[in-house]
Amino acid sequence: MKSKVQAIIIDSMNLGEADKLVTFFSRERGRLQGTARNARKSFKRFGAGLELFTHAGLQLFEREHQELVRIESADIMFQPIEINSDLRRMSTGSVMLELVKEFAPPGERSIPVFHLLADTLRILNESDAPHFLLRIFEIKLLSLLGYQPRLDHCLSCGGSAKRQMIFLTMKGGVLCPDCMVSSGGDQVRLSSGAIGFYYQVLRMDLSKISRLKPSVEIMEELDSAFAAHTFHILGKRLRTMAFLNHCKMIT
Ligand SMILES: [Zn+2]
Repeated sequence: MKSKVQAIIIDSMNLGEADKLVTFFSRERGRLQGTARNARKSFKRFGAGLELFTHAGLQLFEREHQELVRIESADIMFQPIEINSDLRRMSTGSVMLELVKEFAPPGERSIPVFHLLADTLRILNESDAPHFLLRIFEIKLLSLLGYQPRLDHCLSCGGSAKRQMIFLTMKGGVLCPDCMVSSGGDQVRLSSGAIGFYYQVLRMDLSKISRLKPSVEIMEELDSAFAAHTFHILGKRLRTMAFLNHCKMIT
């Protein structure tokens, strides 16, 4: 069966002599994986259409009960070439792609996730604040995929988060200092400013988001909370985070 989808390339690796194994997030069918035969040799059928971050129209061929589709050709719709020319953009963009690869369930269509990814990569292509954009993307993506932590009320007493709260990864929510009895282990603390910023991001349209100017402290608090949150859900650290942290040190 043949079909055509619009997709963003989120992972690509070489397979054998000339083929590629490509993971993409499509508008029509969500996250899929496919092989592209001769992709490293046939410029006519693929060009640079299977490069990471590319928004492309893909011609697919598939057989029933086969998990992998076959990618027959790729036509570039938008190539954010400025992402790869800047280490900060590239390293943050790689984390965005890995988040989609890890969190989006295979074969489940989500037009809002597709637009969030496509629009964020367009903004990232020209962005001077890639790290800020990654934080926005992660907050919105996890919310769209049903992994949104609840930060507005204490999980135990229901008190509203108007003061510093403690984030509990196990519960995906926060406790107020009165309800927090144990002090074992590292605790991620979230100020009311960080929690307020988080809800603003959820409400605000991506196109207006650059108006927000959170402090360095707020960004650091949310970085810690989300690193703990994703680690808890996935049971592992994101591979691309090590690269991002390395790039932050050298740039
Ligand atoms: Zn409480």
